[in-house]
Amino acid sequence: MKYNSEDHKQWFPLVWKNLAPPRYEVLLWAILWKRVATKDRVLKWKALTPEESLCTFCGEVLETVNHVFLHCRFSWNIWNEICAEWGMMWVCPLEIDDAFLLWHGAHLAGFEKQIWDTFFIAVVTIIWEVRNAAVFELKDPSWSSMRDLVVLRVGLWSKAWKENIPYSLEKMVDQLESNKIVDGEVEAKRQIVYDSFDYLCVGCLLLYGGLLF
Ligand SMILES: [Zn+2]
Repeated sequence: MKYNSEDHKQWFPLVWKNLAPPRYEVLLWAILWKRVATKDRVLKWKALTPEESLCTFCGEVLETVNHVFLHCRFSWNIWNEICAEWGMMWVCPLEIDDAFLLWHGAHLAGFEKQIWDTFFIAVVTIIWEVRNAAVFELKDPSWSSMRDLVVLRVGLWSKAWKENIPYSLEKMVDQLESNKIVDGEVEAKRQIVYDSFDYLCVGCLLLYGGLLF
């Protein structure tokens, strides 16, 4: 995939593809722009102390967009679970918009590509909802059901696409569960191809080593 981290406008048109209801696309846009109220931003407004600004999920480091959506081990598990089911190899970009571009660079086509792209929106919006429920309603995140929630959301959204999808929601979720969403066989192995490794987070590769090598 062609990648240029200097050009953030690359991801603009990829947000507005009607893959998800508008409010979720707006939320995706806000996340990619880092305009959601993660604790690092609230700390800058002096509404939280540094101790209160730690990650809602792990409580170990400052809660930033990049951490809470990507690098936190809890969120990272969800990404890994989905990638493993799809046979994708996935590394940890430093920035959320880099991750978005990387995700869209997957070598897929047609309906399968739409589903894959939609997974990204479903994951980040669910992470944000779970995070907000933990912050404002003191609800413990139910990580074991996150992946099922993601699949259900992708299935629900896909039913609203213009394309004629010949499956009921139940069947669609079944197919997503079994990763057989198209008529043909799912490729045995898919790979996101990188032009360069310059932007990879070495720390993340070490932390999550073994994913790629
Ligand atoms: Zn964390």
